[in-house]
Amino acid sequence: MKSPLTVAVLGTGIMGSAMARNIARAGHDVRAWNRSAEKAAALASDGISPYASPAEAVDGADVVLTMLYDAKAVTEVISQAAPSLRPGTLWIQSTTVGATDARALAELAAQHGAVFFDAPVSGTREPAEAGQLLVIAAGPTQQRPVASQVFDAIGARTLWTGEDGAAGSATRLKLVVNSWVIAASNAAGEIVALAHALQVPPQQFFDLIAGGGLDLPFLRMKANLVLGDRMSPASFAVDTSGKDAHLILDAARAAGIRLDGMEAFSARLDRVDSRGFSKYDMAAAYLASLPESDHETPQNS
Ligand code: NAP
Repeated sequence: MKSPLTVAVLGTGIMGSAMARNIARAGHDVRAWNRSAEKAAALASDGISPYASPAEAVDGADVVLTMLYDAKAVTEVISQAAPSLRPGTLWIQSTTVGATDARALAELAAQHGAVFFDAPVSGTREPAEAGQLLVIAAGPTQQRPVASQVFDAIGARTLWTGEDGAAGSATRLKLVVNSWVIAASNAAGEIVALAHALQVPPQQFFDLIAGGGLDLPFLRMKANLVLGDRMSPASFAVDTSGKDAHLILDAARAAGIRLDGMEAFSARLDRVDSRGFSKYDMAAAYLASLPESDHETPQNS
């Protein structure tokens, strides 16, 4: 391995915690900060040092990785970290943000002398835990060898989309990928709801499509979460995927196109979110097909 890096991971939720563990496993010195401190503290047994503030976590780090909820959270957290960022620090921004957010975030990086990489990831909880994410990245060639040490630790592959992180080319590809993820997951839920309603055993559907062009591992995976009542804990939560659906719709509108399917999927995610399922897996959008009286409301809602 090249020289170990000091990497500050800001945001250790579902994805950030798994990414932090894999960066540590690759031999780097990893620091973690999370708004709810217990999630960063839980990483101590993996050799990851928890820090009390973003500024303390990034102080002296070679690389800062943000894996937060949205662009607003990233802006707030990096602004708190800013006084301790040293010039030349690499900032790998992996949170899924809007199509035009990368520019403002890159400007924030420039104000503090950090080198900005727009680097969202594709893959959910399990690939994140296995270090098998697909990294989509845009950033300057000169600093790519350092950034790649982190990407190689968290991912199976890195696809480079450009030199300039501010242009948001990686984030735009990520939104396209998520339009497929959200569509397929919603389709899986609707297939199960329709099969039940028409008294068709769902397994008959899967037996029919088995091995053919209509068959998809992702469709089976999400349908099985519904059929097995395993929609919690989430791999990709209702609230987070709903946020992404809105980002996709905003980007489409700004580009002058209509995505009627995504409008409907977004409304389904919002509906189950408002029924108390925000922290369930996105597969719970299935419940949007049912009258509210037909399912229980989660205890913690
Ligand atoms: P998550 O488990 O809900 O984690 C969200 C993180 O953001 C938590 O650390 C949360 O802190 C933090 N956060 C939220 N609002 C904040 C604020 N205002 N200030 C500071 N911290 C804040 O979600 P996740 O699934 O890991 O997703 C993280 C990002 O990765 C999202 O942008 C998501 O779209 C993207 N993503 C997710 C997946 C997936 O399959 N899950 C795949 C690829 C990309 P608390 O713990 O205190 O709430």
